[in-house]
Amino acid sequence: HAKDSGRNSYCYFSQKMQDTALRKLHLKNQLSHAIENRQLNVVYQPIISIKDKRVNKFEALVRWNNQGEWVSPEEFIQIAEEFSLIKELGQLVLSQACLVLKQLKQQGFNDVVFNINRSVFEIPLNQSENKQWLNTIEHFGLQPSDICFELTESALAPDKRNNEILFNLLRESGCTIALDDFGTGYSSLAYVRRIPIDYIKIDRSFITDMSTNEDDNILVSTIIAMSKALGKKVVAEGVETKEQLDLLSALSCDYIQGYLFSKPLPAEQLANYLSQFNFDDY
Ligand code: C2E
Ligand code: MG
Ligand code: MG
Ligand code: MG
Repeated sequence: HAKDSGRNSYCYFSQKMQDTALRKLHLKNQLSHAIENRQLNVVYQPIISIKDKRVNKFEALVRWNNQGEWVSPEEFIQIAEEFSLIKELGQLVLSQACLVLKQLKQQGFNDVVFNINRSVFEIPLNQSENKQWLNTIEHFGLQPSDICFELTESALAPDKRNNEILFNLLRESGCTIALDDFGTGYSSLAYVRRIPIDYIKIDRSFITDMSTNEDDNILVSTIIAMSKALGKKVVAEGVETKEQLDLLSALSCDYIQGYLFSKPLPAEQLANYLSQFNFDDY
């Protein structure tokens, strides 16, 4: 009996694995096609400065509608990384975002910065790869300081390349760097110490329960205090309630991002959002 059920669960497991593999392969082909035809879209989520009571940054987030089905970035970014499509995907996002940012600046929103997510597999391996990014930024008449790159620390951990050198290369080019999803990786503190970052983004999972869970509250306070002591700016991700906003303001968190202010918006709505925004509405 034990053997039978063992064999059954083995079969079930293997069937599931096969389904997963097939879906992946299918998505990979579709994704490759979508990138080639520039069918990916980018939406932009406002990041609010508490001190200035205004919006001066947006995070660019890629979207893919695969023939009527929205595929989550969590799923397709991983596929893009695995099948070496990530650099092309990243270039597509960067150039779409640069075009939108240029247009905003032309409409008078001069000091807006765009945050662009970069997979660790997109970190330039040498000067010439780095140049390619900078060329895209310059091609649209923007400065490197108009762009902040968000790198996820969990993505960095397993990588054996010398992250420090790569980060320095990025940094020398004049772009700012944010450490994304802070607190969820393997060696957060080691990165803060070794890598030249400007911003720390506290992962949403710590923010969600900070008003009800004392441990999360302590962690968030401590991350903010540490970041400030090290001269870094702090962004809280996934802020959904007024209560969270008030707690974070009291802790002198620098920036807030989350559904409380806005979900990611299509490019056409940014100018309007910037003009209408009033911090005291919240
Ligand atoms: P991330 O960089 O940490 O982005 C924040 C995610 O949290 C986004 O999910 C955003 O829509 C979501 N979010 C923001 N505020 C709230 C909130 O108040 N509540 C909740 N529940 N969620 C909130 P999204 O767009 O699904 O992206 C997921 C992840 O995919 C991103 O996490 C990022 O790691 C990756 N990603 C997205 N776009 C790109 C890209 O262009 N390139 C790369 N390499 N990765 C990307
Ligand atoms: Mg991000
Ligand atoms: Mg994040
Ligand atoms: Mg994330």
